[in-house]
Amino acid sequence: MSKIKFKRVLLKLTGEAVSGEGGYGIDQKVVRNIALEIKEIHEMGIETALVIGGGNIFRGSIAANAGMDRVTADYMGMLATVINGLALQDALEREGVNTRMLTAIEMRQVAEPYVRRRAIRHMEKGRVVIFAGGTGSPYFTTDTTASLRAIEINANVILKATKVDGVYSADPVKDKNAVKFTDLTYMDVLQKDLKVMDATAISLCRDNNLPIIVFSLMKKGNIKRVLTGEKIGTIVKGG
Ligand code: UDP
Repeated sequence: MSKIKFKRVLLKLTGEAVSGEGGYGIDQKVVRNIALEIKEIHEMGIETALVIGGGNIFRGSIAANAGMDRVTADYMGMLATVINGLALQDALEREGVNTRMLTAIEMRQVAEPYVRRRAIRHMEKGRVVIFAGGTGSPYFTTDTTASLRAIEINANVILKATKVDGVYSADPVKDKNAVKFTDLTYMDVLQKDLKVMDATAISLCRDNNLPIIVFSLMKKGNIKRVLTGEKIGTIVKGG
């Protein structure tokens, strides 16, 4: 049996993680595959919370650049995360995983309102918790939501699932000289402006000494690999 490194984790999934070709919409097959991976770590006894983004449906900043009121656009983005959250919840429950979705914007017919103590209690009872609706405030991102919620629930680590297998010095798709980092400090990320998470999200992790592991979701079994201590992505932590 491989050793489990973490007791409670927060997995950040971008909206694109549940989309099909082209990064738009929701592909149920893709969602099911993610659900199966989450089920696997859940069955290992790891308390699991999820933060889901909404970029596959709506991104506030893009709509604002096209002329929409920024706050309205951001609320639309936050609602998009709820749609993704429901898709994830459905896929998890179909695999027999008990879940609760908690939203930062109240919509009681759809999900429970976010209450920190409830979230922790759900995890202690073996339920996977889905945090949707972002922080509930415009001008933030779901990466910042992930940092905030992870700190609030005392998670041991943020797992940031991406399409790339870690953090690179440049975009590895565009630049063949890009090198992959295995270890970074929060300051490295901020000073070199590396595309891990936005600066607000990184600062929150730095101030609270919360490690982030960036890894690829494209390879099956990677979530489990990370949690059993395999060094497959990039870890960001204090220097
Ligand atoms: N958003 C927001 N406040 C938050 C989280 C998200 O206003 O606390 C809005 C913002 O418009 C963002 C959209 O929701 O563009 C979708 O979230 P995000 O872009 O973080 O999703 P991801 O890139 O992870 O798919």
